[in-house]
Amino acid sequence: MSHIHSHPPEDMLLGYTSGKLQDGFNMVLGCHINMCPTCRESLHLHQEIGGEMICTQTPTGMNTSAQATLDMLRKECEPSPKVIASPSNHNPSGIPFPLSSHLGEKIEKLKWQKLAPGLKQHVLDLPGQALARLIWIGKGVSVPSHGHNGDELTLVLSGGYYDGEQSFTKGDLQWADHASPHQPIAMDDGPCLTLAVTDAPIVFQNILPKLLQPFFKI
Ligand SMILES: [Zn+2]
Repeated sequence: MSHIHSHPPEDMLLGYTSGKLQDGFNMVLGCHINMCPTCRESLHLHQEIGGEMICTQTPTGMNTSAQATLDMLRKECEPSPKVIASPSNHNPSGIPFPLSSHLGEKIEKLKWQKLAPGLKQHVLDLPGQALARLIWIGKGVSVPSHGHNGDELTLVLSGGYYDGEQSFTKGDLQWADHASPHQPIAMDDGPCLTLAVTDAPIVFQNILPKLLQPFFKI
């Protein structure tokens, strides 16, 4: 049984299924789904429902190319072996496949940018406005208190952290929007590695991180 208790909201999962998310959010969602049997099951269900609609409904007023695409998709509705989407396929380092295949090398060999004592980041090279980064937090270290201008999605890759009365461990996904200023603190039993994505600059409460913000793209 999975120990993961924090999942993406349903509409975000639907956005992932329909390919409507920005690349950074896709990366984080893809990694969570890779680690989470519950969300893999939901994804399956979405894909089956989407496929069923294509196979059985006939929309009116379609142009020729849309009709041709629908015909092609319907051909694919003919019985075929069931495709299992996103099987759990962590590589030996424990990093989910969408991330490990993007990085191309081991986490330890990446170039890390030090943000503060016990806190460092590696920004992923992905297209689009959303910024995805790996964040390493030393054991017991606090991330500076901050709010958001947009959405922030954080996936725990290893270790864990507290945020107020909540706790997040490996595989958990935390969604924070502009209404929720917060201050994650890594658990005391070891460092915490997260993959986080934001679609707008975050809002620091203290002056020092505010001053450093432009240098670190945060
Ligand atoms: Zn999940």
